[in-house]
Amino acid sequence: MEKEIITKQTEPYLKIIPLGGLGEVGRNMMLLEYKDSILVIDMGFRMPEDGMPGIDYIIPNIAYLTKNKKYKNIVGVLFTHGHYDHIGAVPYAMARLGNPPMYASPLTKGIILKRQEEVPMQPKLKIIEVKDGSKIELGPFKVEFFRQTHTIPDNLGMFIETPVGNIVHTSDFKFDKHPVNEKPTDFNKLNEIGKRGITLLMSDSTGAEQEGHSLSERDINKNLEEIFKKTKGRLIVATFSSLINRLQQIITLSEKYGRKVAVVGHSMKTNTWLTKELGLLKVKKGTILKKVSDVNNYKDEEVTIMCTGAQGEESAGLMKIVLKEHPSVSIKPGDTMIFSSSVIPGNERAVQYLKDDLLRQKAIIYHYGMMDIHAGGHAKQEELLEMMHIMKPEFFMPVHGQYSMLVANARLAEEEANIPKENIIIMDNGNILNLQKHKAYIDKKEVPANYVMVDGLGIGDVGEVVLRDRQALAEDGIFVIIAIVNRKTGKVQTSPDIISRGFVYLKESQELLSETRRIVVGSIEEATGSGKIVNWTYMKDKVRDDIGEFLFRKTERRPMVLPVIIEV
Ligand SMILES: [Zn+2]
Repeated sequence: MEKEIITKQTEPYLKIIPLGGLGEVGRNMMLLEYKDSILVIDMGFRMPEDGMPGIDYIIPNIAYLTKNKKYKNIVGVLFTHGHYDHIGAVPYAMARLGNPPMYASPLTKGIILKRQEEVPMQPKLKIIEVKDGSKIELGPFKVEFFRQTHTIPDNLGMFIETPVGNIVHTSDFKFDKHPVNEKPTDFNKLNEIGKRGITLLMSDSTGAEQEGHSLSERDINKNLEEIFKKTKGRLIVATFSSLINRLQQIITLSEKYGRKVAVVGHSMKTNTWLTKELGLLKVKKGTILKKVSDVNNYKDEEVTIMCTGAQGEESAGLMKIVLKEHPSVSIKPGDTMIFSSSVIPGNERAVQYLKDDLLRQKAIIYHYGMMDIHAGGHAKQEELLEMMHIMKPEFFMPVHGQYSMLVANARLAEEEANIPKENIIIMDNGNILNLQKHKAYIDKKEVPANYVMVDGLGIGDVGEVVLRDRQALAEDGIFVIIAIVNRKTGKVQTSPDIISRGFVYLKESQELLSETRRIVVGSIEEATGSGKIVNWTYMKDKVRDDIGEFLFRKTERRPMVLPVIIEV
């Protein structure tokens, strides 16, 4: 009897540790750790926020795995699908994790390999292909993959058998009975999995704040076709290059209405080529033009231009076309422009300017606000609830999304699916969930999960300090003072030089400058004239403080002040 209690107490927990993707959109990475085996799900990045000048991406912090070479315990890295918020960190993390075996569907594998090429000096990855129905055993974990509809083909949810119970990870998903370019949601399979008894459901929360059911791609297609039918001139369609199924719709409709397709934008070209190679994009021979300039060999009504840049991104294909910077295409009156993607919060202004520019150049615009020509790829409340009803989990954990989205998904679970409140787990990145049979709690301990910033090819070398400097430079500019001091006399020779960028226009601020020079000379000579040994570091700090305070008083700005003192 006593012995049994002891074994119960020491029965190990399954630790579930999100390193990213919770309380944010992007940077998805999740660990499942049981004794000395670790399973990793996804390895994504996210785009920097406003106020992070020069930062390219933010990736998950993998310190928990690199410390004490814990990564040696990784039994496999599983990937749900090929979107960058799920695979984008691979080139920055995989080598540091000892290049463990990866499991991905053919398209996801193709995208990972393409992405890997963009970052030099990377090891050759070991990627094992899996597909709908594949079963693998990795240490104490038995994984079965099942297909899920989203905006990209080859998206896989996961059923994971662990020593403490069965886990379902939904991946990003929506339920679509009439998708384009992929099979409809496999409800039979989902129901069958639900019957196995699910201890924990980890479910996509990105669409949890939206009521109702996501639109089917079939309805989108109908609306797009209406535009194709009535358009006489050229059609320019801007969307995300990652919405592979949307690209398929555009290509198929173009073929139906006798249009050739020009592909503009690097990622759009890459994804079109890759999915075509894998047979996941059905394109008739000759539909896609070899060169964008070939559009000029066809009549306007025979041309579709498919491009990136629907978010108003500065470097994207559409922006180049609109600004007349593209070598072979510019807007002409009568062009019809379709924005087939929603506007990501933060990009509204850029998109607004883009639309205005297009209208000035006499283009006709359709965007998703006017009709349903875009469907998001994420389940809305009805679908999320249906997933809960199918899986009937003992515990529920919302994943993928801002905190408000996680909370919305949790509320659905509690209020609509009747999952007891204490069995609903809202986690933060870096939290550790200890899961045992019929028992789950969040550990007091945490693992590091703060942002790791990628700047060019540097990973994590831009820390908080560098970022703060960049913010200061971006907001208030820089103010450099160069003073030459005669060591013997302690006098400042000639008037100090001042260089400033992004602060005030120097020519118009002569008065401010001469006063600044006077203060600099005063501060320096006060220190050197005392007869004591001069502490130059102290003096530089004093000049910086005096000038900083003076400039703030005069301008209410705080430029970065850099005193350079040269002794002669
Ligand atoms: Zn996705």
